This record gives sequence, structure tokens and C-alpha cells, in this order.
Amino acid sequence: MDIRVICVGDELLSGDTVNTNLAFIGEELAAKGLAIAAEHAVPDDVDDIVYALDCAKQADVVIVVGGLGPTDDDLTRKGVAKFTKRVIFVDPEIRRRVADYLGLRTQGMPSHFLDTQAEHIESATILDNDNGTAPGQVLQNGKTMIALLPGPPREIKPMFIHKLLPLIEEKRDFIWQTLTVRVSGLPESQVEARAKEAIKDIPGLHFAICLKNDCIMLRLGRPDDGDNTPLDKARKNLQDAFGYRLLPEGCLTNAHYLGILLKSRSLQLATAESCTGGGIAAAITDVPGSSDWFVGAVVTYANEWKRDVLGVAAETLERHGAVSEQTVGEMLSGLKSRFHVQAGIAVSGIAGPGGGTPEKPVGTVVIGAFVRDWQAIRTVRFAGHRDTVRLRGANAAINLLVEGLCDNESCKEATT
Ligand code: ATP
Repeated sequence: MDIRVICVGDELLSGDTVNTNLAFIGEELAAKGLAIAAEHAVPDDVDDIVYALDCAKQADVVIVVGGLGPTDDDLTRKGVAKFTKRVIFVDPEIRRRVADYLGLRTQGMPSHFLDTQAEHIESATILDNDNGTAPGQVLQNGKTMIALLPGPPREIKPMFIHKLLPLIEEKRDFIWQTLTVRVSGLPESQVEARAKEAIKDIPGLHFAICLKNDCIMLRLGRPDDGDNTPLDKARKNLQDAFGYRLLPEGCLTNAHYLGILLKSRSLQLATAESCTGGGIAAAITDVPGSSDWFVGAVVTYANEWKRDVLGVAAETLERHGAVSEQTVGEMLSGLKSRFHVQAGIAVSGIAGPGGGTPEKPVGTVVIGAFVRDWQAIRTVRFAGHRDTVRLRGANAAINLLVEGLCDNESCKEATT
């Protein structure tokens, strides 16, 4: 099925807004074995919208995103009406629904605002918007289904998943089965090689791989012939190939996985961060319910703080430096003795661009983790700029603790 997306908005072209809706639509379609054939981002201009629709006239589905608001620069309905040679009328039912949604906020609002929001393209089906004012609209133009969806992500997401996707799926002439799994702690090239080897005897699988959040995401798909065996077998083979590095179903990030492991063992975690500046804590607190297993973080950036807050010896800092296995070891000890947690992560590194030396170049990060009496400290080197080094340092540290929890018998018991 040929699916095209047209994103409307000056802000998308000026760089003020990142086009996350495109990524969202692409991901949702990919999960169903569908793909966006092409995307066109255009400014808030009727003729540009018409031009983009004309470019996409061979498509089966065209999704037009944004430009459905009540202001003068919201021109998507006008563009689609012009292209499809249809009239627009003010729909009293939509007007009433928008007014109900806005409630008291309609007071003092110019009446043409409501009229604009109630513009209905002739013969379009209305998709109610439960999270905003502008409804979506879907119309058939020859062989092409054109869908208009609102721009705000919190509005488009539920509308796309619950209202448009089922209509797109009705149009497809085959159904697709997919299996999505995530692997942590291994480079993409290794994951690809190992995964392909694991599924090589299962014929007819479509294979896609990409870096997603802090893991590598694998997506397998095949036409749905009612037989689930091939994907079930693929999951089992991948589980055997990757062991604990394969994230459990429904787990989207490493931090989430870490939380599942800690919670099941009733362990409490604290972190001590230097170059990651709280990035580990941010990833952890992104996980809903992390307060069950995460007590807090200290960002000890200066040597004085490493000394005063965590008890790192001045002599250690002097002799080995802040970025050293000795210092990270004492940061871990500080977490244990001062914050009384059973699990901890500590990180110290040189994110750059300055601060590197021949022995410790930019990108050197020392990561450490402990669970009760188990402890591991590693020096790793990351290529890339400051952001990349900080992000990869945080991921590697989370991975180290996951590894400890899964690999070591002593870490597997629950705290009583
Ligand atoms: P509204 O009724 O709020 O005016 P709309 O359908 O007219 O909605 P726009 O005015 O185009 O949508 O955009 C509204 C908001 O949604 C803006 O903050 C915009 O930056 C954001 N937005 C629009 N398109 C996208 C996109 N493709 N990706 C991410 N955000 C977007």
C-alpha cells in the first residue's frame, strides 16, 4: 500500500518544531508491516498544500498533518477542498461539539473561531477529537483516501491509533504479523549478526534493525497466514541467542528493565553521577513507578563534592584523578555507607570537548555498579561529541548493573 504523509506548518520548516508526528506515524505503520512511501513538509500555504497533494495523487492513502486550528494560518482544510474540488460548510454538529469541549473558554472568543473549527469538507467523514478542538476528516478522492489530522502530538496520537489506523487496515489486501524485540548492551553490528544467525532457518521473515532509545530494536514481520509458529520460533531463537540481553516483552528501555529486575529482588538503588550530570537518574525517573526501587541520585561534579558528599579520599583524587577506577570505587562505597542502599551506580568521565589527556582522552568514562557484595568497575571509551559520550556513558552504566543482576547468582536473591 502506497502511504504518503504531508506535514503542514511553517514551524516544521524553520526548525522551531521537530517533526515528531512523522516519526510517530512511521513507527505505528511499521508495527503493522506498513511503511510511509514519502513525506512532504510544506509551509502554511494553500497552494503548497495543493502542490503536495498533487505530488501524492498516485497514493492509496495520504495523511495530512496539522493546520486544522482556528487561526488564519491554519489552511489544510482549504487546501484539501481546493485540490479535491469540494466545498466546505460550517457543520453545526461539529460547532456544538467544539463549544462543549471548550466550555467556559468560549466566552469572549470571536464567533468565527468556532465556525473555522466546524469547517467540514463535503462528503468527508469526521473523526472526533477527544483531546482537542479540531476534528480529523477522512475523504475518498478517486483511489486515494485523504485523511486530515490535527498537529498537536497529544491529539494526533490517539486519533491516529484508534480512528485512522483501523481505516487504513481495512484497505490493505493482506494482514501482517510482526514481532518487535529489544536487545541491550551490545553494538548494533553484533546484534544484527547474531539475530540473523538465530533466525536463518525460518523462511520468509522481513527483518529490520535500528537503534531505539537506549537499546537495539529488531522488528520481524511476515504476511499473516494464520500460522503463528514462525514468529513464536523466532522469539524463542532470539531469546536463546541473546539470553538476558533480550528485554522482556513490553519493556521499552534499559532503565525500565533495570527497574523490573530491582523490584523483583526488592532492591533499592541510588546513583552517584559526575559527567552524566543526572542523566542516569533522568532515564530512571522516566520509568513510571520508579519510586518503588529508586531512592535518589547525587551529582558530584566537583572533586570537593565527591569528597564531602560521598567520602572519596582526597588522596585518591590527588593520586588517581577524578576519572579513575579508584575514585569510582570510592563513590560506590560512599553510596553504600552513606545512603544505605543495596544497589548503586557511579560514573565519572571526560565528556569533552576539553579535559582530555593522552592517557585519558575525551570519551573516557569509568562506570561502576554494585549489588550487595558484588561490584564491577570498568573503564570504557566512547567516540563522539559531549552529548553522545554522556548518553552512552549513562546507558553503559545502567547496562553494567543489569549485567550484574542477571549474571551473578548472589545478585539474584530477593532482599528479605
Ligand atoms: P491547533 O488546533 O492546536 O491549531 P492544528 O491541527 O492546527 O492544531 P498546528 O497548528 O499545525 O496543528 O500545530 C499545533 C501544534 O502542534 C504546534 O505546537 C505544532 O508545533 C505541533 N505540531 C504540528 N505539526 C507537528 C509535527 N508534524 N510534529 C510535531 N509537532 C507538530
